[in-house]
Amino acid sequence: MSAGPTAAPGRFVQCLHCRKTLFAKDFLAAQKVCSYCGHHHRLTWQERVDWTFDPGSFEETDVNLVSVDPLSFPEYREKLSASEAKTGLRDSVVSGTATLEGHRLSVAIADFAFMGGSMGSVAGEKITRTLELGLERRMPSVIFCASGGARMQEGLWSLMQMGKTVGAVERCRESGVPFIAVFTDPTMAGVLASYASVADVILAEPRALVGFAGSRVSKQAQVIKAPDDFQTAEFAHRSGMVDRIVPRRELRSTLATLVRALGAALPVSEKVVA
Ligand SMILES: [Zn+2]
Repeated sequence: MSAGPTAAPGRFVQCLHCRKTLFAKDFLAAQKVCSYCGHHHRLTWQERVDWTFDPGSFEETDVNLVSVDPLSFPEYREKLSASEAKTGLRDSVVSGTATLEGHRLSVAIADFAFMGGSMGSVAGEKITRTLELGLERRMPSVIFCASGGARMQEGLWSLMQMGKTVGAVERCRESGVPFIAVFTDPTMAGVLASYASVADVILAEPRALVGFAGSRVSKQAQVIKAPDDFQTAEFAHRSGMVDRIVPRRELRSTLATLVRALGAALPVSEKVVA
């Protein structure tokens, strides 16, 4: 599992995968994809918004939802404060509405930099509200996943988000309102095992880590040797879990095509005009 870009914006950055040196300007122009090896580096939520949706169209919702410490878990409050100071975020998911080629969407973006993108009660609530807003206004939901899984510091409060988010997906499905998930690096554990894997359409970025248990646990549990690309987006695609692997430079146009097709499938009288 790789971390975010290696250096503060300067003249050069080093690819975390092949270790080659890249011009920072070119690296950013390529949306943080290495021009040598194609490694897709992690993005902040803001970069994801800027590089996906129509300029200036994003409007954040539920800005003030913050985690409590229901179990008085040791050092949890300090970790939350440190993550907040590091990222400027209140929790690991940012939600809102945005347009993509004029189509209004309900969106949520997980940011791995905030406590590993872990899903606690706030992240789960924001994902649920994103889906419910899509349902209420009859607009597709697009959620970018980037998470190590459920947030252990919230125990059952965190695990119950799995059922809650899946319930919201099911309500969207019953009403025919589409939900598209994008697996980015990493999409793991409690997030993969809940709302992420039950989306109507699942896209993934190349070589994103996608799996349930971490690699050490998986290796211990294996009775047969797993393929070399076990727990990657490519393996999940081959296994039928992911519909399509989409390079980052094609993600915006692929999502736009999907939204056009799926949005057009909504009953005309209830369609949201962007
Ligand atoms: Zn590289």
